[in-house]
Amino acid sequence: MRVGFIGLGIMGKPMCKNVLKAGYEVIAYDRNIEVIEELKEVGVKSALNPKEVGENCDVLITMLPNSPHVKTVLFGENGAADGLKPGSVVIDMSSINPVESKNIAKTLAEKEIYLLDAPVSGGEPKAIDGTISVMVGGNKEIFEKYYDLIKSMAGSVVRVGDVGAGNTTKLANQIIVALNIAALSEAFILCEKAEVDPQLVFEAIRGGLAGSTVMNAKAPMMIERDFKPGFRIDLHIKDLQNALDTSHSINASLPLTAQIMEILQALKIDGKGESDHSAIVNYYEKINNITVGKK
Ligand code: NAD
Repeated sequence: MRVGFIGLGIMGKPMCKNVLKAGYEVIAYDRNIEVIEELKEVGVKSALNPKEVGENCDVLITMLPNSPHVKTVLFGENGAADGLKPGSVVIDMSSINPVESKNIAKTLAEKEIYLLDAPVSGGEPKAIDGTISVMVGGNKEIFEKYYDLIKSMAGSVVRVGDVGAGNTTKLANQIIVALNIAALSEAFILCEKAEVDPQLVFEAIRGGLAGSTVMNAKAPMMIERDFKPGFRIDLHIKDLQNALDTSHSINASLPLTAQIMEILQALKIDGKGESDHSAIVNYYEKINNITVGKK
């Protein structure tokens, strides 16, 4: 099975390396030439554009920021869909609006190309370890055929429904993560104001009901004041915008999501769009005139 890979950023690069390590032949493209050069050194073949990737693979994996990028790569000038043969499959692992996943699937189906929407959770460390969680939407037989390929990048791979269901699940994930980080930030502000050490609070409560994967990953970053991404605030704004757009289009109301969206927006205006989302604590610090963690 020849695998194409387009989008070799924070997540895509290590994921691509894991596919290669599992023994698949990989041809890749990214508009960032430097990353292509790096991957060539470990045995990935390079292509000049998405179309050339499509012409030389049976299954194409995309890991791009948002739906406009996915559409450009698939349907733009020299797009991959012009190179892919009928019967081939696109596994889009980008986090995008589920309505767009369905639109993309429809356009691909006109060429007898099939889509799995397969966004991921876990961040860069898990992408490197090959332990990300993948939530997949799409046809069951196609899912089963490509399960081993997806598993070569992942700790868990679960089919959650038809096309679009993967990205709906990802939106649910992103709502839970953002609100957890905000809750942790609020709690740490309270502790700082009360002159109780957040590090000791973290150690005391991490094993109890409030403990979580989010807390274990983000509390040390807040305390050390290390806001290097990780997962950028700009990308989380994109996800919550997709969540709100989706919820409005299906008559759902998400009041807390709307509120955390405005906090992220304020951070972006304050020049923190490139910071890790653990920098949500910076918003609380500003309105409380206090700093959490290391002084
Ligand atoms: P990134 O910005 O680091 O990488 C995106 C890559 O796509 C870049 O290398 C860029 O050059 C390439 N690209 C963009 N447009 C292109 C085009 N038209 N042609 C070719 N290449 C193009 O982003 P990332 O952090 O790797 O995230 C990718 C996706 O995964 C996003 O949807 C994000 O929300 C999701 N995600 C990220 C994380 C994380 O922790 N970073 C975790 C889970 C999911």
